[in-house]
Amino acid sequence: MRYLCLILIVACVAPFLGAGDATTLDPALQRAVDEATADAALDGITLEITSGVRTREYQQQLLDEGIKTYGSERVARQYVNTPDRSTHVTGKAVDIGPTDAAYWLAQHGARYGLCQIYANEIWHFERVIEAGGTCPPQLPDASRPS
Ligand SMILES: [Zn+2]
Repeated sequence: MRYLCLILIVACVAPFLGAGDATTLDPALQRAVDEATADAALDGITLEITSGVRTREYQQQLLDEGIKTYGSERVARQYVNTPDRSTHVTGKAVDIGPTDAAYWLAQHGARYGLCQIYANEIWHFERVIEAGGTCPPQLPDASRPS
């Protein structure tokens, strides 16, 4: 009965999500982060996801807060994406902490297919290559097209 209820909830909620909106992290991304977390631990680094999947509403709230903090949408957009553009909304991005873990992943992430996307966000990673590949050049900030 418990599973039937769960299925009904998903069936009822799913149509209200935008196209591509996720409720869980992309499985390949989750696997890559899990592997990196295990290997980081061998180096004495505790790697944690500080932010994974976000709802559109929460992403909008972050953007609204950013506009208040930075005084304009133009500046806020360098740090916070719109719900339509955020890869957190599609389950394709993770923010990693604490800082030593983010630096560890910036150094070793390509081994797992995890790349730092924005030069000004040391914590933000996406799985954009196959494990062992070469990460693409970083974008200056989130306001640039990817
Ligand atoms: Zn992020």
